[in-house]
Amino acid sequence: MKKRSFTLFSILIILSLIFAIPVSAKEKNEGGLRPGEIVTFEQKIPVNVVFIGYDKNDIERQAFLDTLPATYAPIVRYPPFYGIPGRDMGLKFNFEYNLSFKNAEFSRKFFNYMKGIGVSGDPTFFQTAYNDQVNNVLDVNGPVLYIDAPSVENYLSKNLGNPKGYTVVFVNWYSRPDFRFHVYTKTDEADPDTGYNFGAERPSRKMIAWGGSNSRLWFYDLSAGPEAWTNNWNVDNLDLDGNGFEDYRMPPIWEYSSGGFRDPSALSNDLGLVTRFVGINLLFTSSPLYDPLVTAPEAGGDKIIHVNMLEDDPASLGTDWINMAEVRSRFTKFEPYYGWQTNLVDFNPIDTNAQRAFRIATDLLPEDDCWNDYFTTFAEFFCYFDQNRTAYIPDYNDADYVAGVYAFNTTADNLGSQSGLLGFADDNWVDGTQSYIFEFDTEDYRSSGYGFSITTIHEAGHHFGLSHPHDGYDSEYGFDYGPGDDFYFAWSGDESNTIMHYMDLSTDFGQFDQDNMYRYEMAGYLNWSNELLGSILADPNAKSVKKISNGLTNTRIKPWIVSTVGSTSTPPAMRAAPTRSFRRPPVSLAYPLHP
Ligand SMILES: [Zn+2]
Repeated sequence: MKKRSFTLFSILIILSLIFAIPVSAKEKNEGGLRPGEIVTFEQKIPVNVVFIGYDKNDIERQAFLDTLPATYAPIVRYPPFYGIPGRDMGLKFNFEYNLSFKNAEFSRKFFNYMKGIGVSGDPTFFQTAYNDQVNNVLDVNGPVLYIDAPSVENYLSKNLGNPKGYTVVFVNWYSRPDFRFHVYTKTDEADPDTGYNFGAERPSRKMIAWGGSNSRLWFYDLSAGPEAWTNNWNVDNLDLDGNGFEDYRMPPIWEYSSGGFRDPSALSNDLGLVTRFVGINLLFTSSPLYDPLVTAPEAGGDKIIHVNMLEDDPASLGTDWINMAEVRSRFTKFEPYYGWQTNLVDFNPIDTNAQRAFRIATDLLPEDDCWNDYFTTFAEFFCYFDQNRTAYIPDYNDADYVAGVYAFNTTADNLGSQSGLLGFADDNWVDGTQSYIFEFDTEDYRSSGYGFSITTIHEAGHHFGLSHPHDGYDSEYGFDYGPGDDFYFAWSGDESNTIMHYMDLSTDFGQFDQDNMYRYEMAGYLNWSNELLGSILADPNAKSVKKISNGLTNTRIKPWIVSTVGSTSTPPAMRAAPTRSFRRPPVSLAYPLHP
């Protein structure tokens, strides 16, 4: 049922473009607004790296530091897939690294705590699979400890003295005589529609890392597992997807040995790679997939998630498998400064036009339609529902921002070529601006634990800007990457508290999501204010400025698009007409079933 494509992830890397970020204003921004300028807001961000159970001699300090970036300037990731830059986000972070090694007393207490809260059990399916490898250097013997991941995060954040900035904690229990084989779990959130508890039920959700619940800390423990999510139980096969490239993953700590999976001298570099390509790029200071400010309501307007439930299975009712109050609660908690509405309209049964479009998009009905302009039937979802927007999205207030969601309650057979797909947050197929959300549920999916609510929150999270914690952008290298080949280990970013991961362990947005979104919005709104102020000052009728509706249709009227009487201001996105380009959305958008 997997629909991951590692080949496509590699293509994303190749196609990524390097964009010159405008030279930041070096001056401090104490002068307040700067009319007409795009200001780059710089922030010093401490990144603490704490080693527990590692000896100072285990880590080559310089080799580790050499892997880390000095800075990060986030970009809007989607427009570059069309070869055009996204909006200048006006942000730049300067990192300040602090490395420290905890002493024997701290370690003794910490591992004592781990032993105390751990629950003994048999080795996981994947630990046993590791034992069955030809090249494993040891066997994981039971009983192993199942340790609650959020509790460990909480313990660490309390006992590390709450340092400023972000913290990566590298844990190595294996070095000590009191070592126990162990995995981390998160079992406190079941799917709100099906009640299925992925964290409790599935061996694939037993982890080696966690963070971002209520702290700015992420721990990563190579003495835990081996685990499924980064496939580090597999020490026999370098190339997991058979595409001819090694899928680079960090093995358990005891495999860093002569005759092991990885040379011991690679450890410092490996932990550096995890710090940079997971901790920093994907969790602490990530880049948004879509421009969050595109979804800003006008003054006085709400953010609205409008779900059209399209009933395409006579034997079940999709509305039984979505909880709009749950959806709303996640967003009001995430961005409490907006007014939120979540509305649901049931099309029972699905209307014939929408059904025809759905059959075309899933390759069950070979007919020409609007998709032909895009050379792929997958475009039928976007083009049909965009052309017929007024039939499905009611008139809300002009000031509102409406995210349109199309939820297909259907059957396994009707999913056709899209079998295994839970949903995706589509763009406009022109310049990488978010458009509509499409999501799917069936009796088969529900028997695997998936209702509509989690998919709705996840896809809306993309629509409002957020990336996955397993794919992202490296600012200094200037490339986009996903969890494949050289960056296979990026899957470990999923082992963090966010609904944007694929693990189905968290139903809400986490600390890292909030930090990133707030920075995007802070810089965005300030630069909008600068632009607005510049327009006002440049206008001969500046004194008569007032808010107007500028009559643009199909384009969000921004709170900053006010105009002086007699002149019209146009949003930056409209100024340069982007070249029309036809691309399938990046595969990183698709939300697949995951075993
Ligand atoms: Zn997703």
